[in-house]
Amino acid sequence: MLDEHEHSLRGVETSEHNPDLCGPEGTVYSVDPLKVAAKNHPLVAGTKVHLLTFGCQMNKYDSEMVAGLLGERGAAFVENPEDAGLLIMNTCSVRGHAEDRVYNRLHLLKERKRREPGFTIAVMGCMAQKEGEQIAKKFPWVDLIVGTRMLDEFPRLLERVREGTPTPLLAIETKPDVKFGETVARRENKFMAYLTVMRGCNKRCTYCVVPYTRGPEVSRRITDIVAEARRLVADGVLEIMLLGQTIDTYGYDLGGDNTLWKLLRELHAIEGLKRIRFITSHPEECREELFSTMHELRDKVMPFIHMPPQSGSDRMLRRMARGYRRERYLEVVRAARERCPEIEFCGDWIVGFSGETDQDFEASLTLMEEVGFQFSYVFKYSVREGTPAQNLDDDVPEEIKKERHARLTELQERISLQRNQAKIGRIEEVLVDGPSKHDSSRLTGRTRSFQLMHFPGTPELVGQIVRVKVTQATPLSLSGELI
Ligand code: SAM
Ligand code: SF4
Repeated sequence: MLDEHEHSLRGVETSEHNPDLCGPEGTVYSVDPLKVAAKNHPLVAGTKVHLLTFGCQMNKYDSEMVAGLLGERGAAFVENPEDAGLLIMNTCSVRGHAEDRVYNRLHLLKERKRREPGFTIAVMGCMAQKEGEQIAKKFPWVDLIVGTRMLDEFPRLLERVREGTPTPLLAIETKPDVKFGETVARRENKFMAYLTVMRGCNKRCTYCVVPYTRGPEVSRRITDIVAEARRLVADGVLEIMLLGQTIDTYGYDLGGDNTLWKLLRELHAIEGLKRIRFITSHPEECREELFSTMHELRDKVMPFIHMPPQSGSDRMLRRMARGYRRERYLEVVRAARERCPEIEFCGDWIVGFSGETDQDFEASLTLMEEVGFQFSYVFKYSVREGTPAQNLDDDVPEEIKKERHARLTELQERISLQRNQAKIGRIEEVLVDGPSKHDSSRLTGRTRSFQLMHFPGTPELVGQIVRVKVTQATPLSLSGELI
């Protein structure tokens, strides 16, 4: 998935069924048949909520849906955590420092809970799934711990806490799917929405914790996805970003002719929906048919692909169990550019993975250069407990990881600047998001290939697709003039 930050949600900072997963202070929550909880439940209505999200877009989507569920039941959202009666942290386990940030906050909350016993603290998402028992033991002032496949039960679990069920209430069973029903996400961005089309992952990249925090791959049915997309469009959404860990395998578990390109066709037919994007692509699973479909449906399906190489070295790719070689990655890029000439690439890279030599690292530098990515996210390898790579030596010293991180980032900035400068004079279609954060006389939006664009303009253009001539470029953004 793309960026990894702490997010605030609109005015708000943003396996197996295993009933034994419960610490001594925790309470096992067993799954009741899904009932539709009463709207405006008295134990939720009026609750002031502060929801803080760590991690990727999938977490953002989950946060927005949980916020939607709570909003439907009468909860209100507040910007300042000090004003909240309920603090929710949606957590990420992909790298160690994301977990450390949550642990630090949990320590700090002990004193507040002592002062205000009625203040409710909830931890949800990947850390809740992976570390739920430990969190219940170490932080008994937490009230509610909700794993990745129990998020649709959040309001009912909260009601139980408010009814006096002993806490921490631990809900980390792995149901096959999460069903948010007809809830509309409470979104940070009015015009752009995330839409999770599949959960979990069937790959086993040796460094990655996701298959263990999110479970096996489960695709949603096309009819359900289309229905959710229609609700979003009725709510003012113009652009949808479809989410899946290896989105190219969408539908494999459903069988029949369910594929990503079929899904794109069905979504393309929705009147009022202007733009469709999807992430994340896996180099081994990406099919040529996808690129032909992107080109055919290019009025709505945007020419952007997030396909992480992770490394340019075949030796590293093997150790990571990525299932492809450098040459395969390049073949996919060539096929994509041939069939969909407008396409731009975004990548994720891990530096300092176990056993990475200078030569292996050089191979990442040359692959980055050869492909010419529009932008990249570069991560220092972080050992994750429970992953196969935990048994490999974390033998690249931190100093070298830092240096490689800096070199790869610098190279990407140079490539991005060159590519962006080459766009000067071109006309780009931009979906206007809102006023610029730094200068209210300017607007910002995204181009078709997800590039950030700044330009002078007035607020009535927000939510429209406009044409902007590029006049300036930096590595991270373009500036231009309306035409
Ligand atoms: N499913 C996507 C894929 O296959 O590329 C990515 C999922 S992961 C949430 C997002 C990114 O985090 C990965 O692409 C990888 O670069 C990075 N990542 C995952 N595990 C990591 C680890 N243990 N240390 C450092 N970075 C990691
Ligand atoms: Fe993790 Fe690999 Fe699955 Fe991506 S494909 S989520 S990196 S296991």
